[in-house]
Amino acid sequence: MLFVIDFDGTLSVRDTVDAMLEKFAPPEWEEVEQEWLDGHITAVQCMQKQLRMVQTDNVKLESFFRGIQLDASFLPFYKHVSQFSKVAIVSDGLDHAIKVAMKNAAFPELPIYANKLHFVPDGIDISWPHLNASCDAGNGVCKCAVAQNLSTDVGGPVVLVGDGKSDACLAKSADVVFAKGSLIKYCEKEGIAYHRFQTFADVLSQVKKWPQEFPQQAALLSA
Ligand SMILES: [Mg+2]
Ligand SMILES: [Zn+2]
Repeated sequence: MLFVIDFDGTLSVRDTVDAMLEKFAPPEWEEVEQEWLDGHITAVQCMQKQLRMVQTDNVKLESFFRGIQLDASFLPFYKHVSQFSKVAIVSDGLDHAIKVAMKNAAFPELPIYANKLHFVPDGIDISWPHLNASCDAGNGVCKCAVAQNLSTDVGGPVVLVGDGKSDACLAKSADVVFAKGSLIKYCEKEGIAYHRFQTFADVLSQVKKWPQEFPQQAALLSA
């Protein structure tokens, strides 16, 4: 089994990129966001434009990343599911921000698939190791392709835990979807079955019911 965990707004309480832009970019970043929401530019173009608006030094950014607040209920969730499942963070955010936040919170070291952050003088830039031009979603990280590669190694069902637009492509192909935020609306629009959650405590209590409700997992759990 494979759990694909979104980071921003799912494992982290707030969207890290938005919080960073609020703090370190001029207010015009919100106009760029609107261009993306209106469908005039892709997620990739949006993020590149916005991140190049960030004006600060590495020291302030590192300290900002250390302050990213995570959902503490992820820890008991992880302790339980890692007994029978691979768990990976797959995020359309920034790899370095995730690494620093996880380490600072003394969270487990998980595999992270995200866009790559680069420090440049007085700011940052981004590159896209998991871009997939053939995915319609147009995100920096194609979660459906990453999940497909990982699940080929791992086998068994794919479970998505997410909250937003970057989770859409995988929501269509995942075996189980845990959704909050705008991902709920997307699932309803597309007729995708989902479990509603707020924190990983909710996900864990659902997962613990699986032996009764979800025969495929029950077989794996007792294996
Ligand atoms: Mg998210
Ligand atoms: Zn995709």
